[in-house]
Amino acid sequence: MRVGLGYDSHVFEQGKSLVLGGVEIPFEYGLKAHSDGDVLIHAIIDALYGAAALGDIGSHFPDTDEKWRGADSRRLLEFAAKDLASAGFRIVNIDSTIICERPKLVPHIEKIRASLAKLLGKEERDISIKAKTNEKMDAVGEGRGIAVHSVALIESYKE
Ligand code: MG
Repeated sequence: MRVGLGYDSHVFEQGKSLVLGGVEIPFEYGLKAHSDGDVLIHAIIDALYGAAALGDIGSHFPDTDEKWRGADSRRLLEFAAKDLASAGFRIVNIDSTIICERPKLVPHIEKIRASLAKLLGKEERDISIKAKTNEKMDAVGEGRGIAVHSVALIESYKE
C-alpha cells in the first residue's frame, strides 16, 4: 500500500462555470485556470501521482501546453488513472476536503462522489468528499477562491 497527498487552489473568476469533480455547480463565479479549473480533480490527480511517485499534475499536463487550454479535467483524471494502471497500481480509496466559504457544497456532495466513482471505475464508498469553510480566515476565508486537500491510497497489483 502507498499513500499520496494532493493540494490545489484556484481563485474565482467571472464568466466561467464552476466545476467540481466533473459536476457543474450553480454559482456566480467559476475558477481561474488554464483548464476548466476543476480544483477538486486537480488535487486528486496530484494525490494519485504522488502515491505512485510519478511526478505531479504539472509535469504530466503543463499549463504552458496549448493542448490543455480549457481542458476538461475529467479527461486528465482518466489519463492519470491509466498512468497508474500502466505502472501496476490500482486505487484503493480517495478522501478529499474542499474548503470555501461559498457556494454551499453539501447539496452537491453525493453527485460529486458519484461522478468521481464513475470516472475512476470505483464504488462510491471508496470516494469520500468533505466540505468546510475556512472560518473567514485568510484568502479562502475571504471568499476569494477554493482550496482542496486530497489523499489517495493505492496498491500494487502484485501485493
Ligand atoms: Mg489546478
